[in-house]
Amino acid sequence: MNSKGPGSPHPSPAHGGLLPQGHLQPLQAVLFDMDGTLVETEQYWGEAMCDLARELGGSMSPAARERTVGTSMRVAMGVLYADLGVRRDEVDLQGDVRWVEDRTAELMAAGGIDWRPGARALLAAVRDAGVATALVTTTPRRLAAPVLQRITGDLGGNPFDVTVCGDEAPARKPDPAPYLQAMAALGVEAGGCLVIEDSQVGIAAGLAAGATVLGVPSLQRMQPLPGLVVRHGLVGLTAGQLGDLLRVEAGGAGQ
Ligand SMILES: [Mg+2]
Repeated sequence: MNSKGPGSPHPSPAHGGLLPQGHLQPLQAVLFDMDGTLVETEQYWGEAMCDLARELGGSMSPAARERTVGTSMRVAMGVLYADLGVRRDEVDLQGDVRWVEDRTAELMAAGGIDWRPGARALLAAVRDAGVATALVTTTPRRLAAPVLQRITGDLGGNPFDVTVCGDEAPARKPDPAPYLQAMAALGVEAGGCLVIEDSQVGIAAGLAAGATVLGVPSLQRMQPLPGLVVRHGLVGLTAGQLGDLLRVEAGGAGQ
């Protein structure tokens, strides 16, 4: 919204000075979602789901597609089956999940992995500011690996202190478990964390973990929630501005 441009690595105390002293929260860590937040891979998941719908003799409605954004594969399959009006047992479901994951990997390999606008610069800026970082994704490790490889290559090294994939946490978003696991691994408090997400389930997970959440919509609409700041994109955001978001939310001033 109000881009100040690059070059202000840390939040100005003048802003926080308007808030009660006890509520000031220094930014300890930024926890990034992957698909649809850092990289333009969410559409591959959608395309693979639509391909599976065709395999099952139907077509997925846009509304159903929107409801699957950011969800676990088990939840996404439930949405798809209901949309198509088909019944599938547990064995079918596991086969369908594997099919969609493999198809997504194919589409990613063929179509390439692009950054979301502003994401690469923001991630680099957070690193340069000395703030801890984590990648927290519902995508399983085998599918996240090529994305991580791309990110690492572009930034000249792995920019994440911690990575938590969907098959490495005891529960999936909207459960807070993946974010809590990342915070514990980083050794940071939730009150000092900013989560960046593009989906409703991801936002719910971040808020339930106690973090402030920056919501950047890609394929899904967002409703206002306490602790959630919604922006149209990441372009022009600085690490200092992320720290300001945390202070404003902690002070109860809203955005
Ligand atoms: Mg996402």
